Amino acid sequence: MSGLPLTRADAGFVIGLSGEYLAGLIAAVFKVRKKYKGMTVGVQILTNARSGNCTQNCAYCAQSAESGAGIDKYRMTAYEKLSVNAKIAGEKRLARHCVGFSGLRFTDSEIEEFAAFVKSLKSESGLPVCCSIGFLTEAQARLLKASGVDRINHNLNTSRRFYPSICTTHTYDERFANILMLQKLGFEICCGGIIGMGETMDDVIDLMFDLREVNPQAVPVNFLIPLEGTPFFGADVSHLTPEYCLRALCLARLMIPQADIRCAAGREIYLKGREKEMFHVVDSIFAAGYLTAAGQSIDGTIEMVKQAGFEYVIE
Ligand code: SF4
Repeated sequence: MSGLPLTRADAGFVIGLSGEYLAGLIAAVFKVRKKYKGMTVGVQILTNARSGNCTQNCAYCAQSAESGAGIDKYRMTAYEKLSVNAKIAGEKRLARHCVGFSGLRFTDSEIEEFAAFVKSLKSESGLPVCCSIGFLTEAQARLLKASGVDRINHNLNTSRRFYPSICTTHTYDERFANILMLQKLGFEICCGGIIGMGETMDDVIDLMFDLREVNPQAVPVNFLIPLEGTPFFGADVSHLTPEYCLRALCLARLMIPQADIRCAAGREIYLKGREKEMFHVVDSIFAAGYLTAAGQSIDGTIEMVKQAGFEYVIE
């Protein structure tokens, strides 16, 4: 509340807190949440504009080169799907429309094509456009900026130390450098991670410290969904208790209090029935599923926000 940053010892205290103190922690974090975000919840939808066929081997991802997941795969950008979802997002007065592209690198003509489309996308929904679009060259990033893309998502995913355990085809530092380049060009940044991939609590703390350094506008916190066909299928996620997930979200709020803290993938699984406590900590969620995993419907999500005593907002 005083604006002083958490120390490493504070962070360790929050993530390792024993169960009986959780209610007290959430009550304290709720004060911070209200100070920065009031009682509002931003609801986003995500459209996967290009799916599958990625060259990379991110172990959590159903779209990776090594994934055998039975997902839809399309190389071409699904512009029609984007338009339809943009209209829905506008009609339902959601906070923003996030557009995901599988893959790590894009040709200049692919970026030019998407940039030309962004203008009509924004006029259809009237909402900010956010995209998740791998590593861009500076020239490509400038083109997207000029076309009106407001925010870019690029996650750090886990700690620098643990990164080689989840991906060996690119590095943590390449991700970090891409984020800093985008930030320098004036994009808002959405940057977060995935909890539950076998990392230690120290890794979660390291990730949060790096996220604080990036200082993104939004921090998506995902909880691993071990999808069939990915190397994580069958992984033991029994440590992803609602209590642990809530503590991880509390840590994100206390580390980067002014950011949108978004409970992303996994909320429907690990925080079912604990939504009220979740909203005491986070101010942002997705509706209608994730890139390759189903989720709660838009209307169901909006109702759930209202039932919990919060207001859903457009930004
Ligand atoms: S997370 Fe992105 S870069 Fe990694 S495999 Fe999936 S689509 Fe490719």
